[in-house]
Amino acid sequence: MQIVPIPAFNDNYIWLMHNGRHAVAVDPGDAGPVRDFIAQHALTLAAILITHHHRDHTGGIAALAGNCPVYGPAGESIDGVTHRLREGDVVTIEELDLRFEVLDIPGHTAGHIAYYAPGTLFCGDTLFSAGCGRLFDGTAAQLHASLKRLAALPDDTRVYCTHEYTLANLAFACAVEADNPARDAWLATCQRRRAENQPTLPSTIGREKAINPFLRVDQPGVQAALTAHLGHAPGDAQACFTRLREWKNTF
Ligand code: ZN
Ligand code: FE
Repeated sequence: MQIVPIPAFNDNYIWLMHNGRHAVAVDPGDAGPVRDFIAQHALTLAAILITHHHRDHTGGIAALAGNCPVYGPAGESIDGVTHRLREGDVVTIEELDLRFEVLDIPGHTAGHIAYYAPGTLFCGDTLFSAGCGRLFDGTAAQLHASLKRLAALPDDTRVYCTHEYTLANLAFACAVEADNPARDAWLATCQRRRAENQPTLPSTIGREKAINPFLRVDQPGVQAALTAHLGHAPGDAQACFTRLREWKNTF
């Protein structure tokens, strides 16, 4: 089975899993590029997976779904979703021999879910490489808890983020943590990939723990930068996370 990124809009990726016959689309915000890929490769859509209600992740459902099941979060109302999922539910897609566990990861939105199988994580707009989603209808405490949960997954889990935000996130990461050789190495890799018009994604949980400031609020370097930015000590880990998210909003 392959997992390929289908670029959409300015910087979205619609991830498509396929085995040469059947395909599963994750967060198809736009039907056109998915339809084109499916037609070019003579695939049949077996299922659609949705992580949260934002239009850039759901806009293609109506045009693509046909009779195939559309999985989405139980806590959000999304037109076209046929199977509403919450923490602990399991999605089985027989055509591709796939089985995903559903994780509730609120924060970017209040009902945001992720799909996890050993080695593979689809986490929508919650975790990005070197960054995290903005707060829309969830809270900073929810997003912090959700990111800690994702960080506890095995290091070799590939993280299929839904936006190509990596270089902009890395610019912020460099401002927040001056001395991080792993981050500098990832920056060089991502600059080269983007110069070649290649995606920087997927990342991995292990890498994100080493380079992503939002998973590193307990690190002395991050705390020192927050203290300098705020003019006072930022407080506990939750307060650090909240202040870091606010700082990024205006960076
Ligand atoms: Zn979103
Ligand atoms: Fe998005």
